[in-house]
Amino acid sequence: MAEDQRVDLGLVDSIAAETIGEPGQRTFNITARSSRGQAIVWMEKDQLLQLALAIGQLSEDQKPPDPPSAFVPEYAHTGEPVSVEFKVGDMRVRYDTSADVFTMEATDLGDRDDDDGPEATQAEEQVAVQFSFRRSHARVLAEDGQKIVAAGRPRCPYCHSPIEPDGHVCPRSNGHSKAGVPVE
Ligand SMILES: [Zn+2]
Repeated sequence: MAEDQRVDLGLVDSIAAETIGEPGQRTFNITARSSRGQAIVWMEKDQLLQLALAIGQLSEDQKPPDPPSAFVPEYAHTGEPVSVEFKVGDMRVRYDTSADVFTMEATDLGDRDDDDGPEATQAEEQVAVQFSFRRSHARVLAEDGQKIVAAGRPRCPYCHSPIEPDGHVCPRSNGHSKAGVPVE
């Protein structure tokens, strides 16, 4: 196995959930920035939703320590500011109970599509990034993540499938209903 690349941004200055694209074809990412650099982790809608729910639950379940201890990043930073961007394979979030800090780890898919061309030769190389954020960031991330996901396509009131911009052929009505209600 190729040597893994581990990037630790430490405690971030900003972290945000974002979406790009037209309804029905949106892609999602989490962008984190710190003095060490930045990371953009692309993911599916369901992954963002699960992440937002997990962070929200974690911040509710875990009461902040009083006073919190100083936070020390797990990995030292050496050299130039880093910049990583990839489509996520695995993600996990953990909570430091003494420092009241959340840390997200993300690892890329590892196996790239054939149409990626030259990069296919690096198929075994995995990129892993982790970054840490405070409770205030966790709350915003949990709320924004859920909002962004919910702001997607309206769903059919009959079969609950997403309705595409050009309409919807509903299997439940055996017809061509274009009715829909937006998901709040
Ligand atoms: Zn339907």
